[in-house]
Amino acid sequence: MPAPYRPYALSEIIQETDEVRSLVFTPADGQPVPQFKAGQFFMLRITDVPGLKPSMRSYSAARAYRPDSLSFGIKLHGNFTHALFEKKKGDRIEISGPYGFFTLAENNAPIVLLAAGIGITPLLCMCEELTQKKDARPLHLFYSNRELHRAPFIPLLEALQASHPNFKFVHTITCDPAPEGWNGECGRISAEMLKRHGVDFARAHFYFCGPKAFNDSMQQMLEGAGVAKERIHKEAW
Ligand SMILES: Cc1cc2nc3c(=O)[nH]c(=O)nc-3n(C[C@H](O)[C@H](O)[C@H](O)COP(=O)(O)OP(=O)(O)OC[C@H]3O[C@@H](n4cnc5c(N)ncnc54)[C@H](O)[C@@H]3O)c2cc1C
Repeated sequence: MPAPYRPYALSEIIQETDEVRSLVFTPADGQPVPQFKAGQFFMLRITDVPGLKPSMRSYSAARAYRPDSLSFGIKLHGNFTHALFEKKKGDRIEISGPYGFFTLAENNAPIVLLAAGIGITPLLCMCEELTQKKDARPLHLFYSNRELHRAPFIPLLEALQASHPNFKFVHTITCDPAPEGWNGECGRISAEMLKRHGVDFARAHFYFCGPKAFNDSMQQMLEGAGVAKERIHKEAW
């Protein structure tokens, strides 16, 4: 049974980069946000724009659960996202969910998150939840972006890393040459990069989300490194 649509008001708009905004919604029916697990997604529906097609799209929760608000990280693309970016504070949309099975395994294995571009959103939610809970499992996030100025949520991820000793955040820039003064990782996420940062291929569970080409290459890399299928989890958009 799909969850019913409920009214939400847009309560905060944060311009993260030129193309990406965080949109925060507050329930407009007096009920709390439904419980969800990090990695799950919601359907957002716009009903007051005549002729909008599609009028609904899926978005992963980008921040850990809060009863009073629901946050998404959204990249401007086509029809739906243009309509969404026209919304002002106080405007209403409808939201249903949560949905999906891209959630953290309940075991003691180390966690390795692999993201590219806006595919960071479900993994950011996982990082926030795990750091808030001071989860005992070793946690790595490898985050790949073409250019530094187009990479959303870096200050937040750095703050989460600073707040939790188990969390290691590795940001890699794939454009060549890397920006002036950049002394982080360069190039695509690879098995060699993961090994250099201490990833335990024999035990870790791997979670990834990004464009199709990125997902395909992560799948190939992990299978090539001998990671069992049960330890590979992906979200395909
Ligand atoms: C489970 C799930 C979770 C998701 N989570 C997120 C998230 O957290 N953040 C996020 O930003 N997205 C997320 N998405 C993607 C999101 O659902 C939308 O697909 C995305 O926002 C694009 O929607 P749109 O209608 O604005 O773009 P669309 O209109 O679908 O356009 C998509 C692309 O197609 C191009 N295009 C559109 N029309 C044409 C045309 N006529 N000819 C040629 N090219 C065209 C556009 O330029 C654009 O590059 C998620 C998807 C899934 C399935």
